[in-house]
Amino acid sequence: MYYNDKTVSFFDGKFLKSKETSISPYSQSLHYGLGIFEGLKAYQTQHGVRIFKPMEHFARMKKTAEALHMKFDYDTAELEKIAYELLERNKLKNAYIRPILIAADNIGLMAGGDTKLFMAAWKWPRYLGDRLLNTCISPYVRISPKETPVMGKITGNYVPNIMASTEAKQRGFDEAIMLDENGCVAQAPGSNIFIEKDGVLITPPLGHIIPGITRATVIDLAKSLKIEVRERIITVEELLEADAAIFTGTATEVAGIASVDGNLLKLPFNKSQCARIAEAYNELVHSVHEPAYTII
Ligand code: PMP
Repeated sequence: MYYNDKTVSFFDGKFLKSKETSISPYSQSLHYGLGIFEGLKAYQTQHGVRIFKPMEHFARMKKTAEALHMKFDYDTAELEKIAYELLERNKLKNAYIRPILIAADNIGLMAGGDTKLFMAAWKWPRYLGDRLLNTCISPYVRISPKETPVMGKITGNYVPNIMASTEAKQRGFDEAIMLDENGCVAQAPGSNIFIEKDGVLITPPLGHIIPGITRATVIDLAKSLKIEVRERIITVEELLEADAAIFTGTATEVAGIASVDGNLLKLPFNKSQCARIAEAYNELVHSVHEPAYTII
């Protein structure tokens, strides 16, 4: 699904066939989860293929690399150029783009060694599909900011998220909702969350969550649609009593939630402000946004 014999990816400074790339079994990323990835999406727009908010994604990756003391020798404009070339070489239009910063061989516990950047792209349907989702509150808790920086996509931080999604699926749900260490609503394993009450959107504040680029986009869209947004702590009771709710993320886009732990949310989704947001997001990503360099 991710690649075939012809797929080209970017690895350690050059473009090469995906099937010819390999990482060392001595990589510190493999042993200890010290790696950083991002997820970007490209869309076919009226004026060509456009990656949505590439600078924001690469800047988050760079900032996370600094926080983890991982060498990151690329600037954001260079990374954007590589991403566009990757799309072009693979003739991809609507695609997901996955860069990952991989640590060199090191079985010790000190960061700071060499790193390699891998970037691949493939066609990927919306991560959680197009249907309204039946969700559950996970017994697995979102990683604490006291453990590692939570603002970036650190590979090792995803183990609890994988546990949460897997456990939710095993119980017959579509996706999990993770609470933070204080028992408040945090996010889904691969998306942020907004609830709606009396026409107001509410989303957990920064602190325990990934500061999603889609989350920020949704906040902006809500403002432009004159929908009030509050960033504040959400209790489990408020989640269960919500009129509507959505997950947001680059791969998820804006996905509607039908139920939490078997409790149906109060409004039919299409009557909610969340539905307006979903529509506006879909329009926005398919509209033109200028790349930082000219596509030839
Ligand atoms: N939280 C987690 C754990 C994620 O992996 C993601 C992205 N898949 C998000 C939130 C959403 O972030 P963004 O909107 O920047 O894609």
